[in-house]
Amino acid sequence: MKCPHCRIEINPDFQEEYLGSDIQGHWSLFRMICPNPECEKFIIELASGEPQEAHRQGIVGIRDINYKITVNPLISSRPPVPTEVDNKFASDYKEACLILTFSPKASAALSRRCLQKILRDKAGIKKSDLSKEIQEVINSNSLPSHLSDSIDAVRNIGNFAAHPIKSTSTGEIVEVEFGEAEWILDVIESLFDFYFVQPAILKAKKAALNKKLADAGKPPMK
Ligand SMILES: [Zn+2]
Repeated sequence: MKCPHCRIEINPDFQEEYLGSDIQGHWSLFRMICPNPECEKFIIELASGEPQEAHRQGIVGIRDINYKITVNPLISSRPPVPTEVDNKFASDYKEACLILTFSPKASAALSRRCLQKILRDKAGIKKSDLSKEIQEVINSNSLPSHLSDSIDAVRNIGNFAAHPIKSTSTGEIVEVEFGEAEWILDVIESLFDFYFVQPAILKAKKAALNKKLADAGKPPMK
């Protein structure tokens, strides 16, 4: 497993502490300290499952885990942001992921702001509001069709199209469903891949090819 703090590969070596049972089932905390000397932080998971009994000791822990969350660090279940993405885009996205379960509308406000930053910085679009910016990027035909379709749907979230005043400020809070807030995060994840990850892969491949060409005494690829 990877340590959720430092992302270094470590061997899971959790100690279980049985908490007891409630109407939902039996609960345990699992804890370990990351062995990476530059990290050494507690990784703590809370889980519930079926009781695990030991001879003459009664219930000592749980098995057949049916629910588990990481409580330290408190992280989202979405995949981590690719390393190619600049922090100015990644930070809003990470926070939007983290609060998704607790407040979809706060998550959507952050992710709409993140989406607007990407469109302005990476697609060079600047209009008075996000809805118009989305239309502009669709009109530009610069995105693959699956991406332009999914970004188009963002405009219907929180009913922006019907309430243009609401859409003028991306930080504005509007009512959204969990699935809608999640949709914006999915769109941003695809845009991260399109604008950051794929160009970096292409650049690295081109550099490797040009090195081979140079070693063979040939001119580089344009
Ligand atoms: Zn660590």
